[in-house]
Amino acid sequence: MVNVYVGLGSNLDNPRAHVTRAIQELSQLAHCELLLSSKLYSSKPVGPQDQDDFVNAVVLLITELEAHDLLDQLQALEQQHQRVRERHWGPRTLDLDMLLFGEQCISSSRLSVPHPEMKNRAFVLAPLVELSPELTMPDGTSLQQLLNQCPIDDLTCLEP
Ligand code: ATP
Ligand code: CA
Ligand code: CA
Repeated sequence: MVNVYVGLGSNLDNPRAHVTRAIQELSQLAHCELLLSSKLYSSKPVGPQDQDDFVNAVVLLITELEAHDLLDQLQALEQQHQRVRERHWGPRTLDLDMLLFGEQCISSSRLSVPHPEMKNRAFVLAPLVELSPELTMPDGTSLQQLLNQCPIDDLTCLEP
């Protein structure tokens, strides 16, 4: 069994509802168990600014799946939320990013883990540190330290 952190994001069509429903769906994935889910956060979009703010969260799953099989499941869930790929970093109903997969470093055509941008994104680092304050990258770098170095921008924690 491996600990996996998955980042969720949405900024279309009632983002909060998409993220809340996706957390519920992740808790029901075959061969996975949901251990923890973070609070919901609000962040400004990465890339094009002519789109709504995002709602973000991070969950911790344990799984017996291989990483690419879990990616298939995450992409199927995105499809269930009618995600349409229009432009890079454009608005979406649901984005599920595999942030960390145990201590594995994966680099394939479909999958890069740890997620290459996570170190630069407060909307990923803050919920990760909320869930697991002692968490490190596979190379031992402390996520709390990365968060301390990361611009917090307009990240806010949403009321329950
Ligand atoms: P970013 O990766 O910068 O957050 P994005 O989430 O908007 O951008 P997507 O369009 O959702 O990017 O995904 C593009 C491709 O990235 C996917 O088809 C998937 O195969 C690949 N990918 C690579 N690494 C990962 C990962 N760790 N988690 C999810 N998808 C990944
Ligand atoms: Ca993403
Ligand atoms: Ca993605």
